Amino acid sequence: MKDGMGIIKIQGLKVYAYHGVLPEEQAQGQTFVLNLEMEQNIEAAARTDDLEKTTDYGRAAVLVSDWMTEHTSKLIETVAAGLCRMLLETFPLLQRVTVEVQKPRAPIPLEFETVSVTASMGRHRAYLSIGSNLGDSRALLEEAVEKLGRASHTKVVKVSDLIVTKPYGGVEQPDFLNGAVEISTILSPTELLDFLHEIEQEAGRERLVHWGPRTLDLDILFYDDLVLRTKDLTIPHADLHNRSFVLNPMMELDPGFRHPVLGRTIAELKGALDAKH
Ligand code: ATP
Ligand code: CA
Ligand code: CA
Repeated sequence: MKDGMGIIKIQGLKVYAYHGVLPEEQAQGQTFVLNLEMEQNIEAAARTDDLEKTTDYGRAAVLVSDWMTEHTSKLIETVAAGLCRMLLETFPLLQRVTVEVQKPRAPIPLEFETVSVTASMGRHRAYLSIGSNLGDSRALLEEAVEKLGRASHTKVVKVSDLIVTKPYGGVEQPDFLNGAVEISTILSPTELLDFLHEIEQEAGRERLVHWGPRTLDLDILFYDDLVLRTKDLTIPHADLHNRSFVLNPMMELDPGFRHPVLGRTIAELKGALDAKH
């Protein structure tokens, strides 16, 4: 663990709740036992001895218990992941949460001590590229940034200036307004892409011509130092090192950020691209 980081643990928290696949489990309920680990920087709290600077474990325990009784799920997987998410959404200082949900009275026709599922969830840093060349582009981009920040699962950390750029990809169309945004999110890459698509839809985005005009385009440039290639998602964004409308805004956000595949920083990539023109 890094200097300054700490773990707040709550162990053996008993909650009577109604989760299970069997109808009688959902009707009668049973006792669940929880172990929680909440990681955060505890430096400021340790220095000032101030409760406001840390996560109140009493409040966390009560919220966990309330959440357990207010929701009904078939699987303790759902419960463990739901609790992680609720805790991260409620307590801004938490960086990572691990929740073990034990079910000592699970319907297993054998003698056993307990059965459990452990889920872990943390915050991730992502960089997004934002662009528009239809409608009131500035207003559309500002609205998109506001929607990103308003979601309980995502915070906007930094926004670049918006720059006017010539269209890319050879289609005849109006100039673009482009920028980049740094976010902190608890969404997985796929969930983040779905969220971005939702915001694009709300801005009236229609997918007509590839690289054609659009009211709003939100791309994931980086997600931590993750490298991912699936049918629907390539991270880092496949073409970003060839695009000055991506590298220029990224220079404002984090010139030292290192591309996990190319092994070069944003500043180095920009230098290489500028040298080509
Ligand atoms: P480009 O990705 O070259 O900038 P585009 O943004 O115009 O082109 P879209 O039509 O907006 O392309 O997106 C097509 C698909 O690209 C999306 O539905 C998504 O599944 C996929 N995609 C792959 N990687 C990413 C990424 N890193 N960010 C956003 N979408 C991605
Ligand atoms: Ca794009
Ligand atoms: Ca896109």
